[in-house]
Amino acid sequence: MILLKNVYLNGQTTDILIKQNRFFQIKNNISAENAEILDCTNKAILPSFCNMHTHSAMMFLRGIGEDLELMDWLEKEIWPREDKLNDEYVYHISKFSVLEMIKTGTTMFLDMYFHIGETIKAVDEMGIRAVITYVGMDMFDKNETKRRIKNAEDFLSIPTPCHRVMKGLSPHAVYTASEELIKAFKKMTLENDTFLHTHVCETQKEVDDCIQKYGVPPVQLLSDWGILDQKTILAHAVHLKDDEINILKQSQSVVVHNPASNLKLNSGQMPLQRYLDAGIKVTLGTDSASSNNSLSMIDEMKIAALSGKNQANSSTSAKVQDIFDMATINGFEALGVQAGKIKEGYLADFILVDLNNYSLLPNVNLISNMVYSANPSCITDVFCDGKCVMKNAYVKGEEEIISNFKKTCHELLKE
Ligand SMILES: [Zn+2]
Repeated sequence: MILLKNVYLNGQTTDILIKQNRFFQIKNNISAENAEILDCTNKAILPSFCNMHTHSAMMFLRGIGEDLELMDWLEKEIWPREDKLNDEYVYHISKFSVLEMIKTGTTMFLDMYFHIGETIKAVDEMGIRAVITYVGMDMFDKNETKRRIKNAEDFLSIPTPCHRVMKGLSPHAVYTASEELIKAFKKMTLENDTFLHTHVCETQKEVDDCIQKYGVPPVQLLSDWGILDQKTILAHAVHLKDDEINILKQSQSVVVHNPASNLKLNSGQMPLQRYLDAGIKVTLGTDSASSNNSLSMIDEMKIAALSGKNQANSSTSAKVQDIFDMATINGFEALGVQAGKIKEGYLADFILVDLNNYSLLPNVNLISNMVYSANPSCITDVFCDGKCVMKNAYVKGEEEIISNFKKTCHELLKE
């Protein structure tokens, strides 16, 4: 049991008792024998973040090939370097990425990449949550289809090391994965009651090419193929036709907004307020550190709020509470995890922030401060599943994680 004493919650100071992995009691003057007591004077408790779209092991490409055209960037800078990855490299990079996530208050993420067994191991060791997905692409080589389907089957059949890690499947996108592959992946996710994650409508070119090839735009196509439901998680969703917004609403599919990546790659701006008004489930993700270049959900919230107002041409759009919910409760809910709220019965995934940190003063509206002015240095402690994963801004073993990451980058980036 852990007892948080004098913690600031929703404008007042209270005590919070955590039993096993959940908030057990929230009220004043709790006394509990045998509880570990944490004095939280001048600290506020907030839900931790859920990063709904990233490729964590791309962290080694941070700062590589800046300011290039998309295809130049991919062909000259990204793909040749990714070819050098192996299990050991991905393990060390994933650990470092999770370290950055913890330092910036994230306790769950949805990942799509390669060598995923190593990312699973990293998440398990670091003590946070993730949905790790196997990515499928077969458009460049038709012989890949059967192999990818078999690999996906094998991946789903192996149990995860702990309850904090879940598995899913990611057909990469409609321009990189075939109808056969996408349908087979959907069938497997339904049989395993898990998530299907994919990139959709990231660029106008993707939409135009899809219409030319299949006669319909990507979301319509996925709907026609029977792919969309509440366990389908669509990253980007920038360029949608009006009917497609309706399809998302009807199918209860989940959208992941990635505003930093969309702006940096000049992909366009998602019509956030239209989606919110339509009642679509919108969550937030950073995408990878090669197109962001950070995994901080604090930064992402601010960019989402600013780009949301700009896109809607209205300062009353993309409201702070909506943005904060996208970064917290909406993501956890979409992944079926009862976290993202500081409430009795909810899972104890949370952050403590220092109310004397310069970036949170004056403390008139904490949620607004978190979205617009917070610096991640305001986060002092991070808990996941009732356990402390960062104490007084320190993550156990962080020196070694940083040292291994630096060595790995040195190997991967040398000419
Ligand atoms: Zn992506």
